[in-house]
Order: sequence, then C-alpha cells, then structure tokens
Amino acid sequence: MAKGDLLGQMDCPLCGTSSDVKEDKAGRPLLFCRHGCKLQLFTRTEAQADGMRRKLRPAAAPATTVPAAPEAAPAAPKPKSIFEQLTGIPA
Ligand SMILES: [Zn+2]
Repeated sequence: MAKGDLLGQMDCPLCGTSSDVKEDKAGRPLLFCRHGCKLQLFTRTEAQADGMRRKLRPAAAPATTVPAAPEAAPAAPKPKSIFEQLTGIPA
C-alpha cells in the first residue's frame, strides 16, 4: 500500500455520508467526507488506526495482490482451426 491508496469506505461519523478512507503519509487510515460535511478524520495512534480499519468497508482488493489460480483446462478435443470452422473442410 502506498500513501494515498484507497483503503475502503466508511460512513462519516458526523453526517453519515459514505466516505473514502485513504492511507495518510504515516500509513494510517484517513477518512475524508468529500461528499458530505467535509470532515477530515485523521488517526494519530495505532489504536485509532486499528479502530478505523475495523469499521471501514474494504475496497476491492487490487488484482495484483491475490492472483487467481488458473483453472485446470478441461480435456477438450483440439479446437478446429479458423479455416475449418469457416469452411467445414478439415485443414
Ligand atoms: Zn460528514
């Protein structure tokens, strides 16, 4: 996680608007109520940071973190060539 990364969403504790929680330069979550009352809720201690991390709704995990295991290819007959598909004539 780099600073400024979106960690997730959390409802603003003051106005209830769903707000972005990003990582500040100390690596702690920071809520900014961009679409509501403009509250900026900084976390200054690890206890505060942990509390916010527990409350936020995590952002979708970036595709790079958990590569999906490739599915085993089904034992299928060799696909027909484009030529064969178009003409019906075995290539
Ligand atoms: Zn707010």
